[in-house]
Amino acid sequence: IKTIGVLTSGGDAPGMNATIRSVVRTAIARGLRVMGVRKGYNGLIHGDIFEMSPRSVSDTIQRGGTILQTARCPEFMTPEGQQQGAQICKVFGIDGLIVIGGDGSFQGAEKLANLGINTIGIPGTIDLDIACTDYTIGFDTAVNTAMEAINKIRDTSTSHERCSIVEVMGRNAGFIALWCGITNGAEMVLIPEKERPTDEEIIREILQNKQRGKKHFLIITAEGVGGSQDLAVKIEKLTGIETRATILGYLQRGGSPSAVDRMHASMMGAMAVDLLCEGKSNRVIAYRGGQYVDYDINEALKMQKSIDERMYEVAKILSI
Ligand code: ADP
Repeated sequence: IKTIGVLTSGGDAPGMNATIRSVVRTAIARGLRVMGVRKGYNGLIHGDIFEMSPRSVSDTIQRGGTILQTARCPEFMTPEGQQQGAQICKVFGIDGLIVIGGDGSFQGAEKLANLGINTIGIPGTIDLDIACTDYTIGFDTAVNTAMEAINKIRDTSTSHERCSIVEVMGRNAGFIALWCGITNGAEMVLIPEKERPTDEEIIREILQNKQRGKKHFLIITAEGVGGSQDLAVKIEKLTGIETRATILGYLQRGGSPSAVDRMHASMMGAMAVDLLCEGKSNRVIAYRGGQYVDYDINEALKMQKSIDERMYEVAKILSI
């Protein structure tokens, strides 16, 4: 292997830059050339590709977002788009490609592997929703960002004895919500993995909570559950307690990556290059039981992951 490419795909996540930096510098240290591909598979099929040097990634380890930018590319879902991607790799002499993203991006990497381009996936998403790995780059930073924001909402909510509903990211997964639920001391956590209590049940809990002498009621809800604004209106109407819903939104995707994210990014980036140098392809890197391991992409995509039941239980116990 002489030349490798690197791209970020799907939603961005803090720590993607630290991952790119690790890939670029490890590869160059091993005598390889590195090509940066802009805007995910979009840049690949359009040849938006440039050579990177160790200086291309200077001053990026602490920056959120991705210097390579990212995109969703529907064209790459088609066999023609994939052929085009493989062809462009050949034109640029790219014989190995590192894809930083989520499950969708890994499916794309699998298609390229079948067309003769060696590919390695690195899990990068704030949602933690990649089954094969205990950790995905960006999660720790996103949780800390959400936690800090919720701290502030909590302060004012207590002062005014309000009910607050805070919606955090996670369309299909409640990991961020559950972590914030425990770390912010929420009274209730609503996540897509669990059946949602009825509005009546929620209101009953709010009233009981008030009777226990608590000065606020904090509900953390995952994006995938939805309906936060309507719920706030209903609670206020039926209990008389002032209730506000706040949707944290994209602020959770940005920001300087935490030490945890920089560390995983640096280790996974270096490992991805090592795997390519060993001639491996169609693999995804995972952090499992405190170790960095790799799995076949097809195998990884078949795995299942659910929320930690004990965490969910503890979140409830600690809210009395
Ligand atoms: P994520 O990687 O975060 O899961 P997406 O699901 O949006 O994000 O996938 C990112 C990109 O990966 C898509 O826009 C598309 O270009 C590519 N991709 C997703 N699924 C496939 C697939 N089944 N085959 C080929 N490419 C895919």
